Amino acid sequence: MAQFAVIGLGRFGSACALELMKMGHSVLGVDTNPKLVNKYADQLNRAVIADVTDRQALEELGLDNYDVVLVAIGADIEACLVCVVHLKSFGVPTIWAKAISHAQHLILAKIGVNRIIHPEEEMGIRVAQMLSYPMVNDYITLGNGDYIVEVTASDNMNGQTIKDVLREQMDDVQVLLIKRRGQTTIQPDADFALHAKDLLILLGQLQALRTAAPKLV
Ligand code: ADP
Repeated sequence: MAQFAVIGLGRFGSACALELMKMGHSVLGVDTNPKLVNKYADQLNRAVIADVTDRQALEELGLDNYDVVLVAIGADIEACLVCVVHLKSFGVPTIWAKAISHAQHLILAKIGVNRIIHPEEEMGIRVAQMLSYPMVNDYITLGNGDYIVEVTASDNMNGQTIKDVLREQMDDVQVLLIKRRGQTTIQPDADFALHAKDLLILLGQLQALRTAAPKLV
């Protein structure tokens, strides 16, 4: 279990904080807005009202003991930058920050933020990719054109083996695992018979997956 601090409990920060809690981590949420802090107080390990541009107030939070501090302050770029400068001076090991402009990105990179997130742009790219491949439930890009994708087998797949369905793509697409009503089969062999609604996790190059995934749905 890792310890995270999320500074700024707007839409982005609160969504991250709640998801980290769901994943079993310990999360501190910080915001100047008492309404937001009260709203999330019961759902996070700790929620504190503080202005993070105030060095002393920030120091009292003991953020150097956290694995990662995520600065999720949106529009107030100055507050975001001042906060990061303070966090660096306290020796916080890993800082992630949300950026809303190119200039903010440049400065955050210069002052040593480990990862800079552009939520709208990143989400826009993700949505466009999902729209192009609506048969894919979810995906991870591994770089160099390799992807891991999740596909749900359609009713027509009932009883067909992996070999029957993938045919020419057998060499290019690996079935990493199949999930069926909570049961997981890792690296099923080519004769594994599919059921409708099986979840398949496939690994391969985009081009091969483009041909293979539609055959399963
Ligand atoms: P989003 O688009 O994710 O909702 P917002 O800009 O609305 O982004 O949210 C940023 C949050 O950061 C707000 O809840 C705001 O109160 C908080 N915030 C802004 N400045 C500070 C600060 N100096 N200290 C602590 N929290 C701050």
